[in-house]
Amino acid sequence: MRGSNFYSHPGFERAGLRRRDTAWIVERVVDPGSLFVPVWRNQNLVVELDGGEPQAVVLASASITSILGARVEERLGSGDVVFLGVIEERAHFALDLSPVETPLETLHSPAVAASGIGAATVRFADLRQVGPRIDRREGALLALARAMTFWHSRHRYCGLCGSPTRSEEAGHMRRCTNPDCNTMHFPRTDPAVIMLVTHGERALLGRSRNFAPGMYSTLAGFVEPGESLEDAVAREVREETGIEVGAVRYHSSQPWPFPANIMLGFHAEALTTEITVDYGELEDARWCERDWLLTHVDDDSFRMPRLDSIARRLIEDWLHGR
Ligand SMILES: [Zn+2]
Repeated sequence: MRGSNFYSHPGFERAGLRRRDTAWIVERVVDPGSLFVPVWRNQNLVVELDGGEPQAVVLASASITSILGARVEERLGSGDVVFLGVIEERAHFALDLSPVETPLETLHSPAVAASGIGAATVRFADLRQVGPRIDRREGALLALARAMTFWHSRHRYCGLCGSPTRSEEAGHMRRCTNPDCNTMHFPRTDPAVIMLVTHGERALLGRSRNFAPGMYSTLAGFVEPGESLEDAVAREVREETGIEVGAVRYHSSQPWPFPANIMLGFHAEALTTEITVDYGELEDARWCERDWLLTHVDDDSFRMPRLDSIARRLIEDWLHGR
């Protein structure tokens, strides 16, 4: 059994069977023990105390009473409030503050003060930036909150008839309000394959123009409709580098809510070695020797992918024979 990758955490009970129990959900929203994970325009609320690592800020229900207002059912129906699950017997919800122009001011007086962190460095941050430095369980919670609010923000209207939709099942489904249509829409996660291609003692790594300076990573791409994961691996590697792969072996997966993906990780064996880079996709691709990768120290000529990525894990596990 492999441990879970960053942005997922096994100690998190989603309590999916509770989602349709509207009375229970409404009670939990106003329960003083419940906690809310604020999201503002795809950003999460974090605090950085005395230059330490960032921590997730979650708010108690009492501190956001004025934000929620009296009409809890309405907030649930709009999808601004989404039930995420239960951690240590406390219900957790995502709270979408995106309609507000100045969310920190909205939160500041009652909510942030009540959370006990005072006026420390609280800010909305892109999880992509702070993720690698944040606690794993908090990372998983923030990722889920961000993913759910992103989905709601893009499914306000029915894709079939164009009528407005309403959130149901505590934020895990949206239903078309047109009674003749009544279509149900469910949260989406788009699958992408990510693969470390190896040939004996060498690994194939590539870099895109938008990567950090010197960063090389595994190849990756979206799965297309009507395509198996194995075929997607072979196609992406062929398209980006001209390499043909043989055996494809599943490794592990990682939620990647930037904005709505799940990365499906593989190790693949190359059958050919001559690289033909598709410069539309990549800036460079190269074979790297295992011994060189084990001893190289990151610099601007070559650096490994970020620590919270499954790409890094695919490489590290191969380097160390796992
Ligand atoms: Zn509809």
